Amino acid sequence: MSQSVEAIQAAFKQLRLAEMSQALPQLLRQAEKHSWTYMELLTEITDFELKQREAKSIERRLKWAHFPYHKPLSSFDVSQQSALSQRQLNQLATLNWVEQQYNLILLGPPGVGKTALGVGLGLEAIQRGYQVIFITMGELMHLLKTEEFTRKSQIHLKRIRSAGLVIIDDLMYLAMDSYEANLFFQLVNHLYEQCSVILTSNKAPDQWSELMGDQGITTAILDRLLHRVEVIQMDGDSYRMKNKQKIFT
Ligand code: ADP
Ligand code: MG
Repeated sequence: MSQSVEAIQAAFKQLRLAEMSQALPQLLRQAEKHSWTYMELLTEITDFELKQREAKSIERRLKWAHFPYHKPLSSFDVSQQSALSQRQLNQLATLNWVEQQYNLILLGPPGVGKTALGVGLGLEAIQRGYQVIFITMGELMHLLKTEEFTRKSQIHLKRIRSAGLVIIDDLMYLAMDSYEANLFFQLVNHLYEQCSVILTSNKAPDQWSELMGDQGITTAILDRLLHRVEVIQMDGDSYRMKNKQKIFT
């Protein structure tokens, strides 16, 4: 019997069902113990493979996403952010807007939760099977400028270009020259109507052209980003300042 179990395990492996192959002896023991029917056994075996694959896929996409931290959307306290109602947050959490390739622009001063909301929605999207990338504008610029000659940048950008959701954090933190603005335009143009983009910025879009240095390029970028978009102007005092932690009490 053990001879044939090994043979089945080898066959599973050959069929690229590695998880099934590994779990087979254990599942067979359980089947005997609980007198599973053939149908029950087959269901358990296939479910096992599917669940393991799903878990591995989430793990892989989490790694590729490069989130700065993993705070789930459920930890975002909507009562602290008057720009967003619980109903609106729930609506964002359905991710229908990602399905429909809408963009989301989160504006507001430092500390109001722009990055936290982006990360929370990104984590949600990973659980739903999307490929997600989180990147700061500074990192993105570096990738775009080094793409031609750096293999690492090429791989990273390939993932960005094929993602379902790209989160670009701190969009206008740095002023761009026209070469940089042009590289950014090429990327936005590629992502346009192909995936959703979340942008965070502490500058309003009407100030972006100052920082991009070129009115024509800015208009072309905004045209694409704002075509299907929800802009959320976040406000209030910095959450960090409101909840600051001290050494001396
Ligand atoms: P921003 O990107 O707007 O500068 P962050 O998202 O970095 O702000 O938020 C600053 C800190 O405050 C983070 O640790 C974040 O998790 C927390 N924070 C901000 N807003 C909220 C909120 N509404 N609920 C829970 N935590 C929040
Ligand atoms: Mg931030």
